[in-house]
Amino acid sequence: MSTAQREMVKQSVEQKRESNWQNVLYDVIFKADTVAGKSFDITVIVIIVLSVITVIINTVGSIMYIVESPDNGFTNIPQSIYWAVVTLTTVGYGDLAPETNIGKAIAMVIMVMGYGILAVPTGIVTAEITKAMGHNKVTSNVCEGCGYRWHDDDAHYCKHCGNTL
Ligand SMILES: [Zn+2]
Repeated sequence: MSTAQREMVKQSVEQKRESNWQNVLYDVIFKADTVAGKSFDITVIVIIVLSVITVIINTVGSIMYIVESPDNGFTNIPQSIYWAVVTLTTVGYGDLAPETNIGKAIAMVIMVMGYGILAVPTGIVTAEITKAMGHNKVTSNVCEGCGYRWHDDDAHYCKHCGNTL
């Protein structure tokens, strides 16, 4: 694509976003430095994590139903999914427990995964919220002298080298 063509595409995209609600939608989806954009990002992360957990629980439940026999309490797939949820959330009632070696091996993997699934997204969301509520820290306020970027919103001079911002 030539530069002129690229410019034309850019212009047509700009024209298409002229109406107000489209601008708002664009900001919400693609900008991360606004409250709405940040909330959208966090919502997307939460939805993705919940989707992944749902898929894992259903898959593991079905596998455990196949691996374990009904004599061991895994009488149907919903029952196995119940076991998967109890195990993945590290609650572990113990009313259902795998008896076969393969079942126990799968159980060990899920127990370790439970920590990761709960801990990692919690950390990400917490970090994002902390950043969103941060004390007017903005990345757009970069010092041209030293490149330091964590200035206050209303700063006139760089706090490292004294350059005018
Ligand atoms: Zn500086």
